[in-house]
Amino acid sequence: MFDINKIREDFPILNRKIYGKPLVYLDNGATVQKPRCVVDKIEELYYTCNANIHRGVHTLSQEATELTEQARKKVQAFINAKHSHEIIFTKGTTESINLVASSFCRRFCKEGDEIIVSAMEHHANIVPWQIEGDISGVKLKVIPINEKGELILEEFEKLISPKTRLVSVTHVSNVLGTINPIEKIIDIAHRHGIPVLIDAAQSVQHIPVDVQQLDCDFLAFSSHKIYGPTGVGVLYGKEEFLNRMPPYQGGGEMIGHVSFKGTTYNELPFKFEAGTPNYIDVIALGTALDYVLSVGLEQIKEHEDYLLHYCTSKLQEIDGIRFFGTSLNKSSVISFLVGNIHHYDMGMMLDKMGIAVRTGHHCAQPLMEELGIEGTVRASFAVYNTKEEVDIFVDGVNRIVGMFK
Ligand code: PMP
Repeated sequence: MFDINKIREDFPILNRKIYGKPLVYLDNGATVQKPRCVVDKIEELYYTCNANIHRGVHTLSQEATELTEQARKKVQAFINAKHSHEIIFTKGTTESINLVASSFCRRFCKEGDEIIVSAMEHHANIVPWQIEGDISGVKLKVIPINEKGELILEEFEKLISPKTRLVSVTHVSNVLGTINPIEKIIDIAHRHGIPVLIDAAQSVQHIPVDVQQLDCDFLAFSSHKIYGPTGVGVLYGKEEFLNRMPPYQGGGEMIGHVSFKGTTYNELPFKFEAGTPNYIDVIALGTALDYVLSVGLEQIKEHEDYLLHYCTSKLQEIDGIRFFGTSLNKSSVISFLVGNIHHYDMGMMLDKMGIAVRTGHHCAQPLMEELGIEGTVRASFAVYNTKEEVDIFVDGVNRIVGMFK
């Protein structure tokens, strides 16, 4: 059974006071708090099992290597990848997408080729392609959105041309909360023989993701948004693509043999993991995934959906409130503005009440431009949030609106 009090006990930071008020943490879209088991695991590893992996013959190094590979298998199982060598550890979603942009474009793209993204992408799924545009000459095409903040699929199909090389879209928007119909997008793209990258930074912590069922070609996510440590990310890539793509960075375990005459590269996944990997945090990501599975993703989604709908209905009563992202198929993110109140003012005043929300453009400036605004106030929920916290938050927003009247 889902016992919210027991879950909250797993997160000691929730006992903090901010300006003398109990912390109400609603900035989960940016990063989530960590359960005790993850922090304990990091401490335990540094105190008992810290040694650089892969290159050591000694016991500690072998133990750390073994645990790292076990973590890879946990990630493989979590997203149901076919092979564990299709899981590449990076430092986050951003690095995962940069890796694909750099390596995929070098291997498969030429001047004038096209990459399709959507109007609701995070900068991490826009800028790497623009950087590559300066090198290989690829160009971006953009799937538009409707007034609810949903992708317009008919327009998507029209964007596909003989020059399209990849479709790279977010599963869930970090601003609008929209859950995109990625099954349909993948299906349409594949019918034209085009591979698809899914930015799952905002989805894997809320929705079960099965990469074989989806048949996506790449998928990226960050550990820190799924109750794991910062500094670790995952890139899933189908073996057939990863094997054909050149390395992204050089050094460390990614080599086969190095000589000044020329260097050969290691096999997957090591070909893409240059330098000392962040093995401690990789192993702790495995612990975080165990935690999520022990609570149950379905249970987490049900709880967060309840908070989303309860909070939305309470906020709707506020005069002059505007929501950004009103799709029926939505994850637990609420972006809004009230009247002329600046989002920064709202955020700063909520902070004085102990309530943490995010304000600004949320690293989605093209989306802000499309919406004709500079930024929003964004509340986003995680497994440990409560109905009482929603009440405190809505009460806080109401008080601020009152002060501005
Ligand atoms: N994509 C989306 C949809 C995101 O929400 C984020 C994080 N806000 C990122 C990419 C980038 O993730 P990270 O900063 O962990 O690399």
